[in-house]
Amino acid sequence: APPVGVLALQGNVAEHLDALRACGADPRTVRRPAELDEVAGLVLPGGESTTLSKLLVAFDLLEPLRARLAAGMPAFGSCAGMILLAREAIDARPDQHQLGALDIVVRRNAFGRQVQSFESDLAVTGIRGGPVRAVFIRAPWVESTGRGVEVLARVPGSVAGPASGKVVAVRQGPVMATAFHPEQTGDARLHDLFLHRVREYTA
Ligand code: GLN
Repeated sequence: APPVGVLALQGNVAEHLDALRACGADPRTVRRPAELDEVAGLVLPGGESTTLSKLLVAFDLLEPLRARLAAGMPAFGSCAGMILLAREAIDARPDQHQLGALDIVVRRNAFGRQVQSFESDLAVTGIRGGPVRAVFIRAPWVESTGRGVEVLARVPGSVAGPASGKVVAVRQGPVMATAFHPEQTGDARLHDLFLHRVREYTA
């Protein structure tokens, strides 16, 4: 089977490679268009979306990546990766590029200045064996979803404040994204779900 890749321009690359290996995959790093051509699916790690956007241009990956996504390549974005995959990002720099693979509007740094980081146990659709420990680091949340978008997780209603009930994990066909960092908890169930999707869409 063709390998999966991790976009390796910036951010939590090593952690995603480890999580994919823990699921039995043999992932590749992707920095060049030729490397993108060889993978059957791509993880877009967290980091900083403005920087990632600039690096996608500098490495000549922006248009090739858009083309692969438009052709149905499975992808999994975390945090900044979710922001990049979104159709629109509120509070992003105006020159930041959007990949538009998810029909969602995200709010960047939504959890606010006081809450730089936040953790919560979330029930995630498609994940068995108990809740997922979600680590949010200057995370976005999803403000709105288009008709083709499935909501996979929300911040529990028991959490007080504006984050309560906000959508933080979504899927649209072969593309999924989380506002949190599943690569930081040693729990590879979301990566496993992504690999399932890759097999499903490359069969
Ligand atoms: N705040 C970052 C951004 O706007 C995302 C943070 C992260 O990926 N941990 O891109």
